[in-house]
Order: sequence, then C-alpha cells, then structure tokens
Amino acid sequence: MRRSEGYSLLNRFSHIYIEQKALSYPVTDRILKRFPRSVKVVVQHYKDVFNRTHQDFRRQKDSPKLILAVKQEPFLYQGPEICEDFGNKNFYYASCVLNCLYDCDYCYLQGLYASANIVIFVNIEDFFEDVQKRIEYENLYLCISYDTDLLALEGVVPYASKWIEFAGGKQNFNIELRTRSANYGAVKRFTPAEQVVLAWSLSPNEVARRYEKLAPPLETRLKAAKTAVEDGWKVRLCFEPILKIQNWQEIYSAFLKNVFEIIPADRIFDANIGLFRMNREQFKRISRFRTDTDVFAYSMVCSGEGIMSYAEGERMKDFMHRQLIRYLPGEKIYS
Ligand code: SF4
Repeated sequence: MRRSEGYSLLNRFSHIYIEQKALSYPVTDRILKRFPRSVKVVVQHYKDVFNRTHQDFRRQKDSPKLILAVKQEPFLYQGPEICEDFGNKNFYYASCVLNCLYDCDYCYLQGLYASANIVIFVNIEDFFEDVQKRIEYENLYLCISYDTDLLALEGVVPYASKWIEFAGGKQNFNIELRTRSANYGAVKRFTPAEQVVLAWSLSPNEVARRYEKLAPPLETRLKAAKTAVEDGWKVRLCFEPILKIQNWQEIYSAFLKNVFEIIPADRIFDANIGLFRMNREQFKRISRFRTDTDVFAYSMVCSGEGIMSYAEGERMKDFMHRQLIRYLPGEKIYS
C-alpha cells in the first residue's frame, strides 16, 4: 500500500486508549474531538497496553491504535553516539510521541517497542518546563522528532507547531524537526526561527518506493523542502539510511543530482550522510520477523560498540561523501 501523505492515514485509529491521568489534559480533549468515532477505553497505565507481551508489531502496523498518556520524568534523553550531533555539544532528544504513522522496513522502532500503537504524551508543557530549566544555565540542542515523525502526525496532534512556537526567540536553544513527510504546509505559517532546523530525510525513489511504505514519494518531500528553503528556514538534508541496494553507486549519484537540480545547494543549512546501522540487539530482534524484506539480509559486521552495519561501510561512506561534495562545501557535510 502506498499513500501520498500521513493525512490519508488519519482515519485508522479505531480505538483510543486513554490513561486515567491523561483525561484532564487539553491535548486529550482535542484528540478525542478529532476522532469522534473511535472507541475510547480508559486504562490505568499506558504500559498496560503498550508493553503487553505477545503483541504482533506487524499486524498492529496495519491498524494502529492511539494511546494517550502522561509522561513521567525524564523528559529529555542524551542523544546516542549512533546519531549525528552536527557539532552540537549538549545533544538531547525528546520523545513526546512513540511510534510512527509510516512503516519503513528498516525502522529501528520495530525492535525497540513491543507494540506499533502510537503513544502520545499529552503533557507537552512538562517537556517545555524541563527545557526552560536547562537552558537557563547551558546550551541545548534538541531533536524533537525522535522515535516518531512529528510533522507527519501534525493533523493528529500539533506538536511540531508547539515546539516551533516554544523555541522561537529562545537563547541557548536549538531544535531539529526531522521528517519524511511532505507536510510543510502545517508549519509554513510561522516566521522562520533561528533556533529551528527543518530536516528532511531523503532517499532515492528506488529506496523510498520499496522500503519506506506509507511515506510520501521523493518528489513531494523535495517540493516541501524547497518551499521551506525559499521561505527562509534553515533546511537540513539527511541522506540516511544509505542502503546497499543493487547498483547503489549509480542510484545514489543520480539521486543527489536530482536533489540538487531541485533544491538550491547554496541555501542548504547542512547535510549528513548515514549508512544503514543499528544496535545489535534491535537488529537481531527485527531480522527474526522481517523475513519479508531484504534490508536485514545483507552481510553486516558488528563494531566494538555493538552497532551493526555494512562490512564495506567506510568505502560506501567515502563514495557518498565524494558525490555530495560536488554540491555542498565540506564544512556543511556531516558523516
Ligand atoms: S519515518 Fe522514521 S520513525 Fe517513521 S517508520 Fe520511517 S524510519 Fe521509522
């Protein structure tokens, strides 16, 4: 199944589980009004539903439910080594939503969570309060679309907008909103903020069509990124995960050419290259049940830090760097 944008998926939540504590929050109210026909079930704790054993992640992906919950501390987590920090010192991430509307074959979330249902933490103000306390005394670089695709979910819960509003004008604070969505229209009304980087994950059509199910095609993501650049936002291009598909060199070279024919390279804030890689435990868990995709079938090696990636990873990264440097100066490329 391929749909052009997350909005077409919004009628899928046949059930909404609501944590008792979450009932009194305005975000809960808004979501319940947004889905009047969904069956509502009040639960004591969201983990009673989300962490149940013997759930079938793949089947749940076909018909995910919503779970509304109240997040307890910690609200922010230190960014893992496996992720690019783009030269920022205090790299943290916030997971105000768990799981995603899209269904990429290579997604690590299917090895991280027992359930594909989408958890929305309705107490977003508590996340903001925690950030506010920290930035009084130190810089903070925060990835807000982590363990989810926040912009794709904007029609369910407008957290991308809320974060942008919150970040605008703040000292010591920068956020990255990363997405595979083409839903730029949901945040276009804001004045571009110095503190906000809009980051698009891009893959060649050959990869997007085959491995990024439910995510919009490359053309519409490029169009969204281009409009954001023209509107004056800081736009980051994320070329990851690079997959070792057949003829990957030709495919990725042609892809980069296509990208920079559409997006003016001189107006890009920065870009990164990242090979497909994954924590060993998650990789093992996912490869046991994802026999329907060849993503996990390639020969991989495990680094000393427990990260699985391609044996010829360095060669692949060098190749991609050589291609990308044709369009962007070296200091704007992270890999
Ligand atoms: S867009 Fe990101 S979070 Fe969503 S399924 Fe794809 S890889 Fe996972």
